[in-house]
Order: sequence, then structure tokens, then C-alpha cells
Amino acid sequence: MESMYSSSYVDDIREIKEENPFESMMSRFDRAAQLLELDADLYAVMRVPNRELKVYIPTRMDSGRMQVFEGYRVQHNFARGPAKGGIRYSPDVTLDEVRALAAWMTWKCAVVNVPFGGAKGGVICDPQQMSLGELERMTRRYAAELVDFIGPEKDVPAPDMNTNEQTMAWIMDTYSMHARHTVTACVTGKPVDLGGSSGRREATGRGLLFVINEAVKRFQMAPTSTRVVVQGSGNVGGIAAELLHEAGYKIVAISDVHGGIYNPAGIDIPNALKYLRTTRSFEGYEGVETVSNHELLELDCDVLVPAATENQITSQNADKIKCKVLAEGANGPTTAAADEMLHQKGIFVIPDILANAGGVTVSYFEWVQDRMGYFWREDVVNQRLQDTMVASFNDLCRYADAHSVDTRTAAYMLAIDRVAYDTRIRGFYA
Ligand code: GLU
Repeated sequence: MESMYSSSYVDDIREIKEENPFESMMSRFDRAAQLLELDADLYAVMRVPNRELKVYIPTRMDSGRMQVFEGYRVQHNFARGPAKGGIRYSPDVTLDEVRALAAWMTWKCAVVNVPFGGAKGGVICDPQQMSLGELERMTRRYAAELVDFIGPEKDVPAPDMNTNEQTMAWIMDTYSMHARHTVTACVTGKPVDLGGSSGRREATGRGLLFVINEAVKRFQMAPTSTRVVVQGSGNVGGIAAELLHEAGYKIVAISDVHGGIYNPAGIDIPNALKYLRTTRSFEGYEGVETVSNHELLELDCDVLVPAATENQITSQNADKIKCKVLAEGANGPTTAAADEMLHQKGIFVIPDILANAGGVTVSYFEWVQDRMGYFWREDVVNQRLQDTMVASFNDLCRYADAHSVDTRTAAYMLAIDRVAYDTRIRGFYA
């Protein structure tokens, strides 16, 4: 007989594709639900999102013509509080990707115990080809389309790929114009002068540093003899690399979208990132070997930090990964099909829903500060972030040991257990 914990509810997925992030998320959800023996009602309710919005976004382009963009906001779960999650702009955005990312936000917030549910937004567009004016008009119209569904008590967006503090300022302003008063807590990741939190910009990278420190201690390694490979040099990878370098780690390779650089003796990260910012590529950087993004993942190292995008470690290359610790800076960098292969190799995985949770943790601090109207010093923010990341790392390791499961499965089980508990207490309005 077919297990209750299987078949996708989404009609339009006819075949399970390894690189469909929604399928990766669901197969881990199903496995964790089965191990938890989640009851049938909770299982049925928790495996579907709460709401999926699809909006068309007419935008006046600089040419004077109108272009209509397609955008989404998936609100996955509200059991533990307002939905929370970023908005990404990319030509590759799909509803399935946004669905997966929204669910990951629910599990991520539960793993670090912040009182939010999960959501995610995405707009299909190519921000590299758009002017600032076009981006502003598109962002404002997208925000206007969502205005009834977002807000401090409902759903609180934040930056994600190709969106930033400026994008959040436009959304905050658009929302506030509709509300007829300034509502800073309707988004997080805002500029510090406009209700943003100190330390928010660096928070995802800093959170990675804190969990990597704990993993390194667990394996009795010292930062100075720990070789780290970082894929990505944006807001997550770049900042993580800088902070790890500052903490004494030896960063042996780093990349951007075009490719990477490798030096087994270690790379001067501040210098390499300065070069990247001025020339917009690592190409021509001296004293290093060049490697492709694919080759970079297979380098010999102690800690591998994929901090770029989804589906980097798959059934095709998982057997070639050589790190001891995999710290997932990106959302969904590893497919579900690769999980078992990494486990067999004895790689210690710090799963994305913990490893990159520093961002949403400080988003929560930002939301709290906005609502108090009282702002904390950066050292206070960083200390509270460290407390949260270290406690969550230890909770996860204890949970994995107690249930004799790998850390990925433990993270899903822990998160689903917390959301299930709150859902059960609230009861069903049905
Ligand atoms: N986009 C970030 C993430 O994927 C941050 C979300 C937030 O702060 O709400 O975790």
C-alpha cells in the first residue's frame, strides 16, 4: 500500500525532478513527518501552503512602453506568527521555487525559534537589464498589489537574491502611502536610518561564522588550520568569507557567478573582494589558480560553504565532495537525492534552515526594534544573534543524537515538531 506520507499535492508536477526545489523540500518533509509519526490531520494541513498569490505587475519602462511582469508571494504557514521571508528578482523565478523557499522559511524560523511563519516572494525579471527607475516602479506596483496581504501582523518581506535595502525602502514607502502613515515594521532589511537594524546586512554571513565555529569545535579543529571554500561572494558568501578570514580561517577558494579562484596557501579575502568590486570579476587576480564553480565544490577542504544558489550539490557530484563540514549558506544548495550520499561519506551537514538563519533572526530583531521604537547597539544585536545561533546549533545536534538521524533530517523533524505542536494547540478552524 502506498504510504500516507508521499504523493505530491501539486497537480502540475508529473514527474519528480531532482532539481525541482519544491520536490527536494517535500521529500525531506515527508521523511521527517514519517519519523515523527505525524498524525494524518496535521500532515494533511502542514504539507500545503496557506495561500499563494500570483500578481501581474504593469510597469512603465524607460522607453515609455508598458511591460507586465509576473510575480508571486507564497504564504506557507502562520501557525507561530506572521509569515516572514524575502523577495527575489530573477529571470529564473518559478512558482515551485517560491513555494519551496516559503516552506523553508517556516522550517527555518522554527529551527531558530523565532515567532514567525514562512513566506517568500519572487518576480520574474532581469534586474541586470533594468534601470533604477524601472526597478523602483516595478517594486512599488508589486508592493501595491500585495498591500492587503502584507504588514507587520500579517506577512513581513525582506531582501533575497537581487533585492536590497533600497528595494525594502520602496516597499515600506509604498505600504505607508496606502496606510496613510509610516509603518516601518512592514518589511525588514531596511536602511539603518529608516528603521533598519544595525548588523542586519551582515547577519546571514555572521550567523554562518557562528555555526561554523561550533562545528569546528565539535571536531576539535582550530580556525587557523581549517581550510574553507566559499561559493558565492554576494551578501551571504562575501560577508561570510570576510568574517571567517577575520576570525583566522584559511579561505582557499572563493567564487562569483562567473567562476572562482583557488590558492591552497590561503587567499587575502579583503583584497580579493576589493578586486572583485572594482573589476566586477575575479578574472586576472594574481597569485591564484582559476576554477569553475563546479570544480570549486570538489576541492579538498575542511569546510565547504555553498552560498550562491540552489541545486549545486546533486546526485551527479555528491560523491566528489571532499569537505568534512558542509555549511549551507544558500537556500537549497543540496538536492534531496544527494543527502544520502553525503551522509554515507560522513560529511557533517549544517543544513540551510539553520546555517543561513542568521538573516531572519536579525530580521526578527529589526521587527521587534521597529515595534518598540527603540534601537539596539550593533554589539547587542550581534551578541543576541550569536546566542540564538549557538543555542540552535546545540539543540539540533542534541536532537540528531537523541533520534539517531542525520542533521538534515533532525532539522526538519525539530521544525515540523514545533510547528505541529503550535498548530495542535491552536486547533483547527474547520
Ligand atoms: N531572504 C533571507 C532568507 O532566505 C531572509 C529572510 C528574512 O529576513 O525574512 O532567509
